[in-house]
Amino acid sequence: MDKRENSIEISKTEFRKMGYQLIDTISDFLDDISNQPVTTTKSPKELQQLLGNSSLPKEGVSADELLASTSKLLFDNSLLNGHPKFFGFITSSAAPIGALADLLAASVNPNVGGQILSPIATEIEKQTIKWLAEFIGVDPSYGGVLVSGGNMANFTAFLAARTAKAPKNIKEDGLSNTSKQLISYCSKSTHTWIDKAAILFGHGSNSIRWIPTDSSNKMNTQILEQTIKEDIEQGYQPFLVVGTAGDVSTGVVDNLEAVSAVCKAYDLWFHIDGAYGIPAAVVLDLKELFRGVEEADSIALDPHKWLYSPLEAGCTLVKNPKHLIDTYSSHPEYYNFSLTEEGGSLNYFEYGLQNSRGFRALKVWLALQQIGRDGYVKLISEDIALSKYFAELAAQHPELECVTQNLSIATFRYIPRNLEVKDEKRAEYLNTLNEDLVNTLQAGGELFLSNAIINEKYCMRTCIVNFRTTKKDIEECIEIIVKAGRKLHQLLS
Ligand SMILES: *Cc1c(COP(=O)(O)O)cnc(C)c1O
Repeated sequence: MDKRENSIEISKTEFRKMGYQLIDTISDFLDDISNQPVTTTKSPKELQQLLGNSSLPKEGVSADELLASTSKLLFDNSLLNGHPKFFGFITSSAAPIGALADLLAASVNPNVGGQILSPIATEIEKQTIKWLAEFIGVDPSYGGVLVSGGNMANFTAFLAARTAKAPKNIKEDGLSNTSKQLISYCSKSTHTWIDKAAILFGHGSNSIRWIPTDSSNKMNTQILEQTIKEDIEQGYQPFLVVGTAGDVSTGVVDNLEAVSAVCKAYDLWFHIDGAYGIPAAVVLDLKELFRGVEEADSIALDPHKWLYSPLEAGCTLVKNPKHLIDTYSSHPEYYNFSLTEEGGSLNYFEYGLQNSRGFRALKVWLALQQIGRDGYVKLISEDIALSKYFAELAAQHPELECVTQNLSIATFRYIPRNLEVKDEKRAEYLNTLNEDLVNTLQAGGELFLSNAIINEKYCMRTCIVNFRTTKKDIEECIEIIVKAGRKLHQLLS
């Protein structure tokens, strides 16, 4: 067949050769990941020097060479969140099938914005959404959309909540013509996405009521109700309450059933931010902890966290998906598609903020099948057990103090023996010491953890969403932490 001469096409023979080579180097990389440092010690400046500062190449370079040099560049200079001793923030090790799925998805390259552009990919995303709903134990009639991550999943739901609960003219007239200010409620440990949402969508950050937490760090639902009542009396319009299922610092799950009851009493939208924690609802022993999930009007969850999908994959689930269509559907003249409400087709551009959309469903869909429900129950339960083990070892160690343990997050501190700092300086010294310790450990490359501040205590924090971590890793980490703690204490005191 006649082929156009061009610099972008790669012949079948070449593609195979390069592809096999790349897969070979990736398999070596993944197989050896536990022997590598968790992160690079190079500074941003040194990394820039590696890239050089030549200008944009005028002429092309062979793809073969590029792939070989770039693989090495990435393997040697990255933070490896797939390393068994990586426990920072909430970033999981990525299921290898996700890497293959991304290659396959990019090769077919469906645009999952419109059904006509992505016939089978749209169906796969639909099934993925249905399975995710089933996974966390809500009715499979929930609908939704895959997005880039937790922030986007929460934003997508925030706007749907507003369309559902604000005066009907809000889409046409905007916020300036609503007579009452729209108010949202969440616990004080809610993730920063809600600030961004309030700013981005024109509500302003003063429209958020940060409700205090009780002694177990759950939203105090009595204060929630009291605040809603006061706001109504003062002429505000409450519209949304956010319950958190697994807060970022300590993994606490709000009393979702109680939050739901308040929402019902005041006709408010009940949203759950389950970006991190809600997949744990698949574990039977934890059913009680997540009671009330099935009442949510919308839920955010992140397959790129506890479902081990490679970045990026978030998901918004909505009890009545019509609220997404009401919010996001438009009918431009240049789309001759049958729209979602009509011919039985479903166009994902009508479900969220994106128009052209990649096929991120594939990696989630494949992992759900490769691992299966039972496989996930085992993985998630083991992550939780490992986190408890971490907390136990910290509690037993004479130089460590365990502060909290929930889901797969443990927080703890290093406390030197025979600390001779006087009482009033003690708290301050321990905070400085533990802050320095987090920074030292993060830079060292032996393990990676992050921090949390709990009741003014600066803590180390490990979040295990990592299928490669073993008990031995945890035992070794305790030693690494204590050793680094002793060394720092000697330096500082
Ligand atoms: C991680 C997280 C987010 C943000 O999600 P991204 O995927 O980083 O955008 C929001 N809320 C909670 C509870 C989270 O754990």
